Amino acid sequence: MNFLLRQLVACRHTRVGRKLLALFPRHVFELYAARQSPSPLWDGGRITLSFDLDYPEDIAAVPHLLRCLREAHFKASFACIGRWIEEYPDAHRRIVDEGHEIVNHSYTHPDNELLNPDNRFNALARSHQRDEIERCHATCERLLKYAPIGFRIPHFGALFTPAIYPMLQALGYRYSSSTMWWQTPTLGAPLRWSVGQWVNESVGEDSPPSAVWEFPVSGCPEHPLNAFDTWHAFRMTHAPHGDYRALFRRCVTLCRTKGFYVNVYFDPQDTLRFDFAALLRDIHESGAGEAVKTYAELVGANERHAAHNLRLPQRPFASLSSQG
Ligand SMILES: [Zn+2]
Ligand SMILES: [Zn+2]
Repeated sequence: MNFLLRQLVACRHTRVGRKLLALFPRHVFELYAARQSPSPLWDGGRITLSFDLDYPEDIAAVPHLLRCLREAHFKASFACIGRWIEEYPDAHRRIVDEGHEIVNHSYTHPDNELLNPDNRFNALARSHQRDEIERCHATCERLLKYAPIGFRIPHFGALFTPAIYPMLQALGYRYSSSTMWWQTPTLGAPLRWSVGQWVNESVGEDSPPSAVWEFPVSGCPEHPLNAFDTWHAFRMTHAPHGDYRALFRRCVTLCRTKGFYVNVYFDPQDTLRFDFAALLRDIHESGAGEAVKTYAELVGANERHAAHNLRLPQRPFASLSSQG
């Protein structure tokens, strides 16, 4: 069955493939969610709530967002851009102060209309890509006293490039969340990239400590090839009719019953468009409250590293930058 599903996904660019996927979207979603490889990092399902702070409107929504997360007792992962950290240091400091995780989201978010409209991350030279990652990291250390251990490619999915893994590895990073579920052989379960290929075996004592985990982004229950993010849900396909909370509850149910890894991201400004606090309560009411973990917690669960050590300075980036 996994073979058939992979064939179908591989044919998504053909007319027949698109028709088949459009005919049975719910089936494709249920199938992929239920057939996902078991994670070598944990037993059962997990949920990661992530937020990309891409625009000033997103940063303006941070107080509301933090209030909702505090009330629900959830920790979340915030993908942050170096330039916006410089512009709005206080909003970013509040995120760190409330115990959430900062994910390196590059220095200028290449293709961001306000910061760097003429570039795309995957089209940059390697040295330029690395510079984007390093400058964001240095900004986090300087202004937030926080050393990220994870990265998200601006726009991931279509702009995904495995070129990041050796860079992240060299920089001492532990994970990335930059792919879609269908781009991975595990159908969205976390996996590692090492020496030019995906690796998905359990991590034992002898595994290389430098291997980088990838946490693939989940698909929409109604449109499995699209990321289940709020941009898709509120500004694209579902805007006129979708019930985002009901779709979200389906993901949470599959997390509980099938061990599905729910990795979703929200644009913070969209959390003002609906009852976000109610969506967080839904997670608790479904009995999945304990399943909500940040990426750092998920990596730490395996490596027995306490996530709260994150704020301690890690290896200095300056020494790596000077190598080229
Ligand atoms: Zn972004
Ligand atoms: Zn959808």
